[in-house]
Amino acid sequence: MRRRRNPIATSILTEAHATVPELVEPQATTWHRSLANAVRSGHALAERLGLDPSALGLSADAERDFPVLVPESYVARMRPGDPGDPLLRQVLAVHEETLDVPGFTSDPVGDTDARDQPGLLRKYAGRALLIATGACAVHCRYCFRRHYAYGDDPRTLDDWRPALKTIAADESIREVILSGGDPLTLVDHSLARLVHEIAAVPHVRRLRVHTRLPVVLPDRVTPALLDLFSSGGPTPVVVVHANHANELVADAATAVRRLVTAGVTTLNQAVLLRGVNDTFEAQRDLCERLVDLGVIPYYLHQLDRVAGAAHFETPESTGHAIVARLRTHLPGYAVPQYVREVRGEPNKVPLARPF
Ligand SMILES: *Cc1c(COP(=O)(O)O)cnc(C)c1O
Ligand code: SF4
Repeated sequence: MRRRRNPIATSILTEAHATVPELVEPQATTWHRSLANAVRSGHALAERLGLDPSALGLSADAERDFPVLVPESYVARMRPGDPGDPLLRQVLAVHEETLDVPGFTSDPVGDTDARDQPGLLRKYAGRALLIATGACAVHCRYCFRRHYAYGDDPRTLDDWRPALKTIAADESIREVILSGGDPLTLVDHSLARLVHEIAAVPHVRRLRVHTRLPVVLPDRVTPALLDLFSSGGPTPVVVVHANHANELVADAATAVRRLVTAGVTTLNQAVLLRGVNDTFEAQRDLCERLVDLGVIPYYLHQLDRVAGAAHFETPESTGHAIVARLRTHLPGYAVPQYVREVRGEPNKVPLARPF
């Protein structure tokens, strides 16, 4: 099963508890409209940026496999006329994606083996990860879950019962991670119901949300969303996902700043991507921009070897060299941990310096 094509996930938990007051605010309609107006083809992107589509290596097959999806706000941060723009490269479906490259597979990090209950992944001590939805506001071409079978995961509150029961029954779970897809594509009342179910479990102390929406669909950071995070439940931690300093300007910078100002611990994870951010300068600018906004660079991931993303792979030696140089230029807290996810390991594996 491939990712569902409708990026607006409204189905989870909606019917079961229709009497719970809705948290949806007028602003919610704004972000829905932004999502509905997202750019959905390589040709449209080329046109918006004044580029010759025939020079971009576009692929209809790649688009069919994993549709192009890019909100206008993100397009507005791309440089017109630059086919190598680092934001454009993250979202453009190109013919390299259709090549079969040995070692690049559909489930590179063992998510299927880690599925404990429908929608619940458990790999690491003390943490449980919920696939809150398969929907995203952007389709990142390097996504390690681009082939994940979201269709097998829960859609309604009843579907979530086994996962929530497992969390409630296991006192070792101190942190619940909402992931996906992007959990913030859920409408507020669906998200609120899920958060409230989790908050009702006394041993869960932290609620972590992994999301790219503050960066790609900044409208999503509404007052209602901030209220949900500061409603007195488990301590919220938001991990945003920016790969390049150019992503963290204008409305995206404001959205991220809002999270920080609301008192939410905000971290960033990035993926090392060839042609996007595989230079010292790109990583330095990203880290500086993050800490200027009050966001701590958490992880720099070595690319997961997912089928269709081989052209983004950067040698580990490049990553080592970049991170070693970052250490000599930035405060310690501004240097992310360079890690790779290895199937079966009890933690994300730090990539040691080879020298
Ligand atoms: C990455 C991941 C986590 C979080 O790992 P941290 O090192 O705590 O950021 C938790 N569960 C699963 C299944 C993961 O893939
Ligand atoms: S990287 Fe995140 S936001 Fe991008 S497609 Fe994958 S799950 Fe969605």
